[in-house]
This record gives sequence, structure tokens and C-alpha cells, in this order.
Amino acid sequence: MLINLKNNKRILPLAIIGAGPSGITAAIYAQRANIKPIIFTNEIVCGKIAKTLLIENYPGFKSTTGAKFCKELQEQIEFLKISVIYQKVINLAKTAKGLFIINTKTEKFYFEKVIIATGTKEKQLPVKGIKEFHGRGVSYCSSCDGYFFKDLNIAVIGGGNAAVEESKILAQIGKKIIIINRDQKLLAESMLISQIEKMSNVQIYYNTILLEAQGKQNLEKLFLKNVVTQQKIELKVDGLFIYIGAIPNVDFLDPEWSIMDDNKYIIVNNHFETNITNLYAIGDVVSGYVQQYTTAISSATFALKNIIERGFLH
Ligand SMILES: Cc1cc2nc3c(=O)[nH]c(=O)nc-3n(C[C@H](O)[C@H](O)[C@H](O)COP(=O)(O)OP(=O)(O)OC[C@H]3O[C@@H](n4cnc5c(N)ncnc54)[C@H](O)[C@@H]3O)c2cc1C
Repeated sequence: MLINLKNNKRILPLAIIGAGPSGITAAIYAQRANIKPIIFTNEIVCGKIAKTLLIENYPGFKSTTGAKFCKELQEQIEFLKISVIYQKVINLAKTAKGLFIINTKTEKFYFEKVIIATGTKEKQLPVKGIKEFHGRGVSYCSSCDGYFFKDLNIAVIGGGNAAVEESKILAQIGKKIIIINRDQKLLAESMLISQIEKMSNVQIYYNTILLEAQGKQNLEKLFLKNVVTQQKIELKVDGLFIYIGAIPNVDFLDPEWSIMDDNKYIIVNNHFETNITNLYAIGDVVSGYVQQYTTAISSATFALKNIIERGFLH
């Protein structure tokens, strides 16, 4: 059931902006409490799960793929008849009476409460050649593009969980994987590190940065530098995947609201409510929060408990 309020100022109870694990969990709890939430999303339902090749740290699944997990979630959303509006929220405003106005490119909606569950987007690597070869060898999403590099040489930049997890899977697709890590050790979970270190077709370059990506039609080689020895390295590769962190998706928020920290992550209390009444934030977009599925889901549960307890006026 979609409700278009273009010519109708009916106030709806709850908007959830974002359809990743946090937004989906919030919607499940809200729907089961008969709140009839509306999810807004600019992509398919699933968020980053759709961009993850393999999940091995979620209870109940020894190992599953992002694609399988995503399909289950989409079926659950359909089964519960949760309303999803496939539009990007471009602005969130507030009326004098404390209601929220959600603007998409073409429509305007009024809500009593809003949950921001918009997650983060990948940090771009500001290195010569990266923009030029994006989509022609350079990618920020291994589940989307990994199979284009079957039996080829792949480099991965980064040293955190995402970089190591994705390298593990890419190692089963590609011929050789070279992890380029600017620090002297990987920052991922120790179990992931010991798994990746045992893989025979994975090589790790420590203390190494990327200086430039080059090629003709497609990416062909990388120029690297070891920051300790100052040694320069030329590396022939077919693909490059970049996992160097993320920045929050908050472009639609009014910077005057002062609900964000210096890095634009949203500050919340124990109920995941911001300092604006009835405005909540959950998942990866939250300031100082652990960015994982389990925590995204947990934050949604806390927020919904509070929302259900406080009830609705309209
Ligand atoms: C490569 C990779 C692998 C990972 N692997 C794991 C793992 O194995 N285990 C684990 O626990 N965690 C993993 N993570 C972390 C995990 O993906 C995140 O912690 C989790 O997805 C956060 O959920 P979220 O709902 O907060 O945000 P997201 O999943 O990022 O979802 C945000 C949603 O908001 C939507 N959105 C954004 N802006 C707007 C807007 N203006 N209007 C409408 N919609 C909007 C987006 O389209 C998206 O649907 C991985 C992350 C990456 C990048």
C-alpha cells in the first residue's frame, strides 16, 4: 500500500529512510506493532548486504552469501506487506508543530516520527587514474563486479574487515590477489587475518600506498610506494577493489540541526533518538557505533522499543 500525499496532508506515523539491515529491522518491528511504517530507499531493499559477497559472522548462518540473505529479507518485507517507496530522500524538514516533511524529487510526505537508517557510502580514493578507470577495472563493490575478474590478477586496497573479507572471496575467483595496506599490519578481526594469511594466492603489501593507476582502455597497472623503504613498485593487475572506509549518507539533512558530529555521523542517546524529538538514527550512520549487521539490527530494536512505548499522537 503506497500513500501519495501530494494533494493530501494526511500525517503518517513513521518513516524509515534507508532499507539496509537497520531500516529493514525497524520496519519489521513497526509493522508487527501495527504502526504501518513506510520505508524510503534509493536502491533495492537490502542496503550493503546486497554488496557483500560472503557473511560469516551472523548468528544462525555458518556462512551465507549477501545475495541469499538479501533475497530472504526481500521476501520477509513482501510477506509482512511493508510499504516501500523507491525514491531517494533529498530533504528532511520540520514544521513549526514538530512534524517532519520528507521530500523526494517529485513528492512530499508528512510524518510524525522519522528514523534515519541511511548507512554510509564508500570513501573514494583520491589518486590519479582511479576516477578514470572506475568501471573499467576499478570497483568499490566485489559482489557486483568480482566475477568480471575470474582467473585474473586483482588488487585490493585496505586493511580492515571489509577489505579482508572481500579479498577472501576474490581469492576464490581471481588468479592472484594482492592486498595493498598502508599500515604495517591488517586491522581486521584476527580470525580473518589468519584465514587470509593462509591463502596461497594472496600476497599482502604492508606499509604501501597507491600512487597512480594506469592503462589504455582498461586498468593495466598500478604504481605503488613502500612508505618505509621508499621503494617504488610497478604492479600489473586487471582489477582493483577499494575498501578504505566510508562516509555517512546525510546529504538530505539540514546542517543547522546540529545533530551530527564533526565527521557527519549522527549523535543519538540510548534510545537512538537524536536531540530532535521523534527523530531517530540507527545503524552505520550513528556516531561512534560499531558498523556491523548485528549492531545495525540491535540499534533498530532499541529505537522501535522506545517508539512503541511512547506511542503516536496522529
Ligand atoms: C564490502 C563490505 C562487506 C561487509 N561485510 C560484513 C559482514 O560480513 N558482516 C557484518 O556484520 N557487516 C559487514 N559489513 C558492514 C555492514 O554491511 C553494515 O554494517 C550494515 O550494512 C549497516 O546497515 P545499515 O542499515 O546501517 O546501512 P546500509 O546497509 O548501508 O543501508 C543503508 C540504506 O540507506 C539507503 N539510503 C541512503 N541514503 C538514502 C536517501 N537519501 N534516501 C533513501 N535511501 C537512502 C541506501 O540505499 C541503503 O539501502 C560489510 C560492509 C562492506 C562495505
